[in-house]
Amino acid sequence: MIIKPKTRGFICLTAHPLGCERNVEEQIAYVSKNGPISGGPRNVLVVGASTGYGLASRIVSSFGCGANTIGVFFERPADVDRPASAGWYNSIAFKKYAEGGNFIAENINGDAFSDEIKEKVVEVIKSKLVHVDCVIYSLASPRRTDPRTGETYKSVLKPIGNKFKSKTVNVDSGKIGDVELEPASADEIVSTVKVMGGEDWKLWMQTLLRENVLADRIKTVAYSYIGPKVTRPIYSDGTIGRAKEDLDRAADAITHMLSKIGGKAIISVNKAVVTQASSAIPVVPLYISMLFKVMKEKNLHEGCIEQIYRLFKNHLYGNDESRDSYGRIRIDNFELQEDVQGAVAELWNRVSTENLREITDIDDYRREFLKLFGFGIDGIDYDADVTP
Ligand code: NAD
Repeated sequence: MIIKPKTRGFICLTAHPLGCERNVEEQIAYVSKNGPISGGPRNVLVVGASTGYGLASRIVSSFGCGANTIGVFFERPADVDRPASAGWYNSIAFKKYAEGGNFIAENINGDAFSDEIKEKVVEVIKSKLVHVDCVIYSLASPRRTDPRTGETYKSVLKPIGNKFKSKTVNVDSGKIGDVELEPASADEIVSTVKVMGGEDWKLWMQTLLRENVLADRIKTVAYSYIGPKVTRPIYSDGTIGRAKEDLDRAADAITHMLSKIGGKAIISVNKAVVTQASSAIPVVPLYISMLFKVMKEKNLHEGCIEQIYRLFKNHLYGNDESRDSYGRIRIDNFELQEDVQGAVAELWNRVSTENLREITDIDDYRREFLKLFGFGIDGIDYDADVTP
């Protein structure tokens, strides 16, 4: 099969197995080059392990810390006439390299919100690892079925209280236009918190604790985002922000629950990066295009792997115990530096369809987006026949 990118708005319907493998190799190489992380975990469960921050967490766990991993994700395998999803290919590639390095790497494909997948993970931990000493919760999902009630909730990306009107970019055409979003209804707020809040993280940790598969002093980490003023109405002050507040509350409840084994739940606030999840948020691609430009100029640019390597090495298993006033780790510190945000704000005021390519890094945003699906990578022959 000859596999080319087929994009529809903010998704790409195809993925290239060799390109995805190359992405995983690149991230492994970054970690290997930067050296081992001492005192890291031995056995790690990553929920949401196939792309973005979760995949980077899995790679740092094995190749930085020497840990075995279980990765849970929801991905589509290949069909006779259709390639698999990028996360599927990433996970196959990860397993190949991790096992080649003599690490256990178990892939579990299914709905992380279900009781069934939680039970399956418990079984695999018991048979292969006995305990896990780190659980990374990195899910980004548009919907969740509550296993207790069977009801399905959908998350929405909307402002709360007032309409939100902002500049945005059509990534395909490069046209700058306006986006206007109506405020979320009360039900939509509740649903978004149900999907992206802390309830499921807590259910995971309750299950793992009850089944006695957590090591003493276990650390569990969930990822959050705060971001700049321009995205505040749609992010921090919007429905997703409410869900992230709920995640903060869940961290406290989980830490309390884990206190008898000396465990701790931690929120890490990460920077904005190009992932399948972030490309779906209105306004964010335009902001990221400017942020990349500014952070590269200031030599502060980081992607998922750089962020997570720093998180593990300096914070989770290092000496930097700094936390914000809510007790969160802040690896978004460079993004939110005053000079970075000042420069982005200046670009934001000036940007137009005409100067987009000149004053922002939209070209790199597009490249990074296609790269998520294994496309546009040097040395790969996209005209060659590959088996999906
Ligand atoms: P992503 O889209 O790259 O990855 C999402 C992962 O969740 C994938 O592995 C996917 O398979 C898995 N998943 C989705 N639904 C699932 C289900 N029902 N069952 C099992 N697995 C499922 O997302 P990302 O951007 O890496 O986001 C991960 C976390 O990081 C989120 O909490 C997000 O808010 C946070 N974060 C992201 C950014 C950013 O800029 N992308 C910034 C800060 C924080």
